[in-house]
Amino acid sequence: MIYDVRTRGGAVLPNLGLGTWRMGENHSRRKDEIAALELGLDLGMRLIDTAEMYGNGGAEEVVAEAVAGRRDGVVIVSKVLPVNAGYAGTIAAAGRSLKRLRTEWIDLYLLHWPGPHPLEETLRAFEKLRVDGTVRSYGVSNFDLGEMEACELLPGGSGVVANQVLYNLERRGIERSVLPWCAQRDIAVMAYSPLDQARLRTREGLVEVARRHGVTSYQVAIAWTMRHENVVSIPKATRLDHVRELAAAAEIVLSEDDLRLLEGDYPAPTKDLPLETA
Ligand code: NAP
Repeated sequence: MIYDVRTRGGAVLPNLGLGTWRMGENHSRRKDEIAALELGLDLGMRLIDTAEMYGNGGAEEVVAEAVAGRRDGVVIVSKVLPVNAGYAGTIAAAGRSLKRLRTEWIDLYLLHWPGPHPLEETLRAFEKLRVDGTVRSYGVSNFDLGEMEACELLPGGSGVVANQVLYNLERRGIERSVLPWCAQRDIAVMAYSPLDQARLRTREGLVEVARRHGVTSYQVAIAWTMRHENVVSIPKATRLDHVRELAAAAEIVLSEDDLRLLEGDYPAPTKDLPLETA
């Protein structure tokens, strides 16, 4: 079931949404991309994840088309590029994103990854954007535990409501510290590339769990990321049959025995690893 993850500071994020990386790059695919996001919205996937980086702004324009006429019901997440993330640069980038998205607000605005500008500046800009109503809430992406801890101590750091990180059956490093640290503070973890960019290897246990539920292995992989109550999973799909499968994955309830089988094939790491990225 798709439910709302409630973060500290009062942000509300549906726990399943759609990503847009690689959208908006090619005009000939635009219609299909819009149709995929529209179908996702029709099927209850009300969160859309985008970024100024994707398609050089093109993905945000695709999102604008898809949400036209139903903006109020949609949670839009976008991201500022680290190179733009000084104080003035962040505010200017948010303004450009608003224009491309054809909206008056961004629900959740993230720093795409740690970059060259002091984080204090980015947070100060995020806070101003929040007070102005340009963004409803803000957060970070690709932040490891040490970066989260340092961020928390800065002015505006306690305003961070989400950390978007790589998470799927084969990339489980965040389970050792980032995930529990965020959960303890009601910070949402947004799982990106939950299908490992369609490179996820389908091992025996995954195939067996899929067979038990009468679904595909990739649907089980999505349900698996959604099993934590503070995780928001954001797969991307442009094929309509894929979008339908992703929406249906929210209905899968994995049993203890299913989870044991998956654990056998895709064990969690036994030592701390540096944060993996796409
Ligand atoms: P992903 O969601 O793991 O995989 C996307 C791929 O899976 C596409 O090729 C898609 O095919 C395929 N797919 C989707 N549903 C499927 C299904 N039911 N069965 C089989 N294949 C299926 O990869 P991702 O795009 O890297 O990650 C998702 C989103 O996370 C991105 O779009 C982006 O919004 C975000 N992200 C954020 C960061 C960051 O640094 N913050 C990094 C990476 C990604 P079709 O497109 O052909 O349907």
